[in-house]
Amino acid sequence: MNWSDFPREHVKCILCGQNNPEILSVQKSWPVARCRNCGLIYLSSRPLESALEEMYSREYYNSADVGYGGYVDNFHKYNDIFTNLFNKRTHDIEPYRGQGKLLEVGCAHGFLLDHLRKHQWKVKGLEVSPLASKYAVDQLKLDVFCGKLEDAGYEDNFFDVVLLLDVLEHLHRPFETLREIGRILTPQGVLVVQCPWELTHWEEKAEAFLKKMKPCTITPDAIPAHLYFFSPDTLEAFMIKGGFITFKKQSGNYGSIRRHIKPVPVDAGPFYERWARFLYFRMGLQQLFYRSARIVGKGNGLIRYGRFNP
Ligand SMILES: [Zn+2]
Repeated sequence: MNWSDFPREHVKCILCGQNNPEILSVQKSWPVARCRNCGLIYLSSRPLESALEEMYSREYYNSADVGYGGYVDNFHKYNDIFTNLFNKRTHDIEPYRGQGKLLEVGCAHGFLLDHLRKHQWKVKGLEVSPLASKYAVDQLKLDVFCGKLEDAGYEDNFFDVVLLLDVLEHLHRPFETLREIGRILTPQGVLVVQCPWELTHWEEKAEAFLKKMKPCTITPDAIPAHLYFFSPDTLEAFMIKGGFITFKKQSGNYGSIRRHIKPVPVDAGPFYERWARFLYFRMGLQQLFYRSARIVGKGNGLIRYGRFNP
């Protein structure tokens, strides 16, 4: 599929409302811009909401370009890695169990929900992809609504925990979604948001530096599916604008599965560069950096726990 053919719309900065973008780079015909006013990095020209929905409904979970190429196959193949991630998540949300009612917005095929159900959570899911949600319903027998959150008709003050994992960066109207989540959470309910730290993360800054490129100009993941490229500051501003107060932060590391599926090539470039790549990607230097980064809160995954307080 040719992603540059999508019908598109020009947008102002969704965070501060100003139209003062500095174009950082153009990726697959999509301009990546930084708002000069508030610093949000976003696609200043982006696919229409209807076009992206169409993409999620058909190819996203099989596309290696922008999506999760062969997601079900990879889940089974790298089950150990997934299980470790799921165990960690289960442990992390345990303090907020309440009545145990949990919703995952953007639950894909429902693998995490299936795992949580085994730990006595009463789970529901929501997913825009008919393909993925059908799998969750038919294969895993989960209660998954296919469609948008505002159409699901969940009760007020119902859920103890809502998970929004790797979703916020995809949403055309993120603040409406956050406020709707606020409505369906109990007063003590907790929203868990996870999204990648992109373009201003140290690893990407280092990559740009080593490639003699300007900062923030390397190709980010999942263009044009990602509409925003968060930093800790801009994610915090999103939480606040959506009506949430962050009370806990965690740092995660993306890429452990991808590194298995598609290892970074190390045999390109001049001799010294090959050696550097070999050391970094193959001899464990990257792993060491990642572990250290996570400890000091500089991993490339941003995880935030918030309570609704509009
Ligand atoms: Zn702005």
